[in-house]
Amino acid sequence: MELLEQASEYLRTGRLVAFPTETVYGLGARADWPEAVARIFQAKNRPSFDPLIVHFPHLEQACEWAVFDPRALKLAHRFWPGPLTLVLPRLWRNGQPRIPDLVTAGLDTVGVRVPAQPMALDLLRRVGLPIAAPSANPFGYISPTTSDHVRTGLGDRVDLILDGGPCEVGVESTIVDLSTPRPRLLRPGGLAREILETELGESLEYAGFAPPVRTEAPGMMESHYAPKIPVEVFEEVHSLRERAIVLKGRCVLLSTNPLKDVPCFDGFAMGEGAAMAVSLFATLRRLDNPESRQILALLPSPVGLGLAVRDRLFRAAASRVG
Ligand code: AMP
Ligand code: MG
Repeated sequence: MELLEQASEYLRTGRLVAFPTETVYGLGARADWPEAVARIFQAKNRPSFDPLIVHFPHLEQACEWAVFDPRALKLAHRFWPGPLTLVLPRLWRNGQPRIPDLVTAGLDTVGVRVPAQPMALDLLRRVGLPIAAPSANPFGYISPTTSDHVRTGLGDRVDLILDGGPCEVGVESTIVDLSTPRPRLLRPGGLAREILETELGESLEYAGFAPPVRTEAPGMMESHYAPKIPVEVFEEVHSLRERAIVLKGRCVLLSTNPLKDVPCFDGFAMGEGAAMAVSLFATLRRLDNPESRQILALLPSPVGLGLAVRDRLFRAAASRVG
């Protein structure tokens, strides 16, 4: 049987399939079936108060599971398929929410998205069911941007891993909550805040890197996206250099552009704009070995995808500071 057909058969029968999206690799299970969804939480070791994003092949199908107001329709028409998740009220039928509580962590809203990755879209079209899919990594660790990352992290806890090459965006989707009168940015991601605000014609409320609000945006929990070795973040190169001197150069550097005159084992430049997001997680993984000792990262400015990269670096660092 063709691999994609096998993958969709697996999903239909409640098994787990890891698949590429343009943001990161997802760990998919049918969202309308709590027994299947439970296997995602098990495989990832993910706490059940952390809701999952539900994926569709197109807007029309998403409209059968969540309630779209004119604002939501506008954003979906403009940015789907793409790295944007909309948090919307769940749709109810016959006194039941169509998307079960286990997916939404009991919330009356559901996060929905149409990914822009040909293999993902083909798979979703074949399955014809809503697919819950968080990132395909053990909970709290760096998100996977290649199928090898998935295999290393989850191995045989997944029934099938589809390989679609490296992810084109490289950070998770931007999450916008449209269930309240004022739209809120819950998680900065692969679609820049400025572009969204222009389309909406209003600014997005954004709490920034705040203490986690458990049931609301657990993607914002501090222990996310974290390498095993310590990460420290810096707003400007002067204080980073001072720290490197104190460490006697026993550290590796992460920045958008190469840093000069900083003592270190090695330095990695992610590049700017989209390139920075694409390389962030793969670079963090490469640096995540005991020889690196410790990572010193220079934060990019909070413009465009810089906002998402800052957010992930803060969280990678926060889990160590406790
Ligand atoms: P992951 O796919 O692992 O990046 O995780 C999905 C993230 O989406 C969660 O951690 C939440 O932050 C967010 N999310 C999903 N559904 C909702 C919802 N109904 N309300 C608020 N945030 C949500
Ligand atoms: Mg995740």
